[in-house]
Amino acid sequence: MNLSKSKYTLGIQCEKILWLDKYKSEVKEELNNDQVFDNGTQVGILAQQLFGDYKVVDFNSNLSKMIEDTNNYLKEDYINLCEASFSYDHNFCSVDILVKKKDEYEIYEVKSSTHVSDVYLDDVSYQYYVLKSLGLNVIKASIVHLNSNYVREGKLDIHKLFNIVDVTETAKEKQESIKDNTDKIQKYMENTNEQIKDIGAYCFSPYECPYFKYCSRHLPKNNLFNIRGMQLSTKIKLYNKGLVSYEDLLNEDINEKYKQQIEFELYNLEPHIDVDKVKKVLDKLYYPLYFLDFESYQKAVPEYDYMRPYEQIPFQYSLHYIEEKDQELKHKEFLSEKNIDPRRLLAEQLVKDIPNNACVLAYNMQFEKMIIRNLASIYDDLKDDLMNIHDHIQDLMIPFKDRDYYTKEMYGSYSIKYVLPALFPNDPSLDYHNLNLVHKGDEASNSFINLSNMNKEEENEVREALLRYCELDTYAMVKILKKLKEVTK
Ligand code: SF4
Repeated sequence: MNLSKSKYTLGIQCEKILWLDKYKSEVKEELNNDQVFDNGTQVGILAQQLFGDYKVVDFNSNLSKMIEDTNNYLKEDYINLCEASFSYDHNFCSVDILVKKKDEYEIYEVKSSTHVSDVYLDDVSYQYYVLKSLGLNVIKASIVHLNSNYVREGKLDIHKLFNIVDVTETAKEKQESIKDNTDKIQKYMENTNEQIKDIGAYCFSPYECPYFKYCSRHLPKNNLFNIRGMQLSTKIKLYNKGLVSYEDLLNEDINEKYKQQIEFELYNLEPHIDVDKVKKVLDKLYYPLYFLDFESYQKAVPEYDYMRPYEQIPFQYSLHYIEEKDQELKHKEFLSEKNIDPRRLLAEQLVKDIPNNACVLAYNMQFEKMIIRNLASIYDDLKDDLMNIHDHIQDLMIPFKDRDYYTKEMYGSYSIKYVLPALFPNDPSLDYHNLNLVHKGDEASNSFINLSNMNKEEENEVREALLRYCELDTYAMVKILKKLKEVTK
């Protein structure tokens, strides 16, 4: 089997991932990751400019052609070559940026993340191994990643946007293990019969494996991997002790919250409501009462001034509000136009829409507070009003997070996506599945970013879907509050 950088790193996570990819990919699951918008290509292209003029080896599905092109380019004494491609003993790699100075070579692996992780070190070490094995004098191996502290001001400064971390020593230390690893992977792949491989921490790290459902099919339906909040290391420890089913865990010394989830699901228990504690949360609320929810997107490369890599950029909010007790529920909303920095207009509208000292409710308020603090740090003229909103935000999530209100249908979660159907199982108006086009946060971000690629008709439909999605988030809060009042009467 021909290995590549990504196959090698997957193979050292678990050889069976590669085996299943090759022989049984139909059992692979689509993982539902809340992904940030994929900016990897943009990051890669920007990084290519880091060392001045450069040449690129064009992608070709015929890898020999890429290797041949590389060899031709490397006849020059000095060159910065991107996607320089090599193969040694069935180990292929394309180096993101290869800097050649006479007979010395430097490897730069570009990552769109903001830190160096162990799996990147394996990736670079593999490239170092391939080039060294071919007799190239590699004097340096580095990882290029985004600098999370970079704040754009004016023209993008790629030398500040990226951090370059020299990992040559680590790459050298790993060399001995690479031959062993590649041999082990090759041997595993030669066997066309499926081998039993027990599950372990490697099923989740460094990447969540899309075959976990398949490899854990022997477990009972209610098993410890469904317990929310429990650390992976604890789960693996219990699993290795043979404590797997909910019944197995009942007499174990585990956190009360985990036990509560187990008991509620196992014994079909009635909802638990600590009326006094829920009342305490409700007693702090007052009118006018605003229910606030932002939608945001993240981009690896800051598009506008005063943005950092991957900063949460708010582009939309929904606001339900009740001005006085027993008065009608009203609604306001904001959705930015496409292709502009959405923050200034959003901030201006927000301080107009929420009066000073109003009581503001959010669900998981840390997010809303962070967005508002970021806006206040940029717009000095709006700072006082923004911070007034910030300082009056209260969190509707508290009773659920503290398990003062808990039902078995929450499955150990206090996310609104679990709490809402648990409290209102038969209300289609509160069911996100009934919405058009946008049903969750990452779909909202991606839809907004994609507006620039749509015609007017498509854009109008998506904008309407975004508005209805965000509106449901705050309407859900209104209904949850109502429910809390009912159960504490
Ligand atoms: S689920 Fe675990 S054992 Fe199965 S292929 Fe993935 S990493 Fe390997």
